[in-house]
Amino acid sequence: MSQTIYDIAVVGGGPAGMTAALYGARAGKSVILFEGETLGGQIVVSERIENYPALPNIDGFTFAQNLKEQIEAQGVIIVQAKVTEVEKTAPAFSVVADQTYTARSVILATGLKHRKLGVSGEEELIGRGVSFCATCDGRFYRNREVAVIGGGNTAVQDALTLSEYCSRVYLIHRRMELRAEEELVKRLDGKENIEFIGDTVVEEMQGTSRLEALSLKNLRTGAIQYLPVAGAFEAIGYIPQNQPFQAVAALDEYGYFLASPTGAASTSGVFVAGDACQKSVRQLTTAVSDGTVAALFAVQYLDAHKD
Ligand code: NAP
Repeated sequence: MSQTIYDIAVVGGGPAGMTAALYGARAGKSVILFEGETLGGQIVVSERIENYPALPNIDGFTFAQNLKEQIEAQGVIIVQAKVTEVEKTAPAFSVVADQTYTARSVILATGLKHRKLGVSGEEELIGRGVSFCATCDGRFYRNREVAVIGGGNTAVQDALTLSEYCSRVYLIHRRMELRAEEELVKRLDGKENIEFIGDTVVEEMQGTSRLEALSLKNLRTGAIQYLPVAGAFEAIGYIPQNQPFQAVAALDEYGYFLASPTGAASTSGVFVAGDACQKSVRQLTTAVSDGTVAALFAVQYLDAHKD
């Protein structure tokens, strides 16, 4: 029995991967897409998307569902399985998931996992007051009190963003010294509605249907503080998921894919897209843009390597 050879295997079913699948299929290529968890990726838990051009108000779940239906209508085959390995088996690639698939090109859009605090109440309240994206969700907390957790560039930037429309922003960090760049830290000076709470960790997130408060512990004194907030933005770093693919796509020192402006990775025929790549802006719009670029250059690669 001869095995199907797909033109493009897309690894990852977030906005970058699904957009890549859409463009690949519309260019007449056979496309198979793999997703090990939730189709849609991180965007699924976004309460509302208000920064996507021409879609002024859509929830993340509907956005992902629409995109899924759009790619299925173009004939993309969706496999709900985690890809554990991609191997070059010239002239094609072996993609190991629930079984081994063969594809002539591969687009890696494996996304990122936000590091989570792992405290009680967190999982239940994600999308109900607990968010990982101040740019996306901050405006829903206009004139409310919110917290940002973390001490890096993202946390400080999030606190500055939120201070523009929230009545008070608590910046909660496990140390007294912020890790963020000095230039960013300086911008906190004079921001009267940002309050820094150092040497402090979140012990619990409380609320029934939505977040109502954080239980905080001061690491020096052991004192417990109950902090009522409407929103909590976690900014404690990201975890790329790219190690299994480093044989075909080189990584930077932090584990992000290195990519050329065409999305081409270190192995000919492999392309990368979305948050998993080394880049400075990680937004829905940039993920979709990356997916487009990677797919169009994958199509160009396939047309140049027909035999
Ligand atoms: P990050 O630099 O890794 O900082 C994560 C912060 O979260 C650190 O302050 C860390 O504390 C804290 N943290 C980690 N695990 C924690 C836990 N379990 N509980 C409590 N706190 C915890 O992450 P990031 O700020 O998202 O930045 C990621 C990368 O993107 C960095 O390279 C950053 O420079 C870059 N970035 C750049 C910009 C820019 O404008 N240039 C903007 C955003 C991000 P400790 O400090 O104690 O380790």
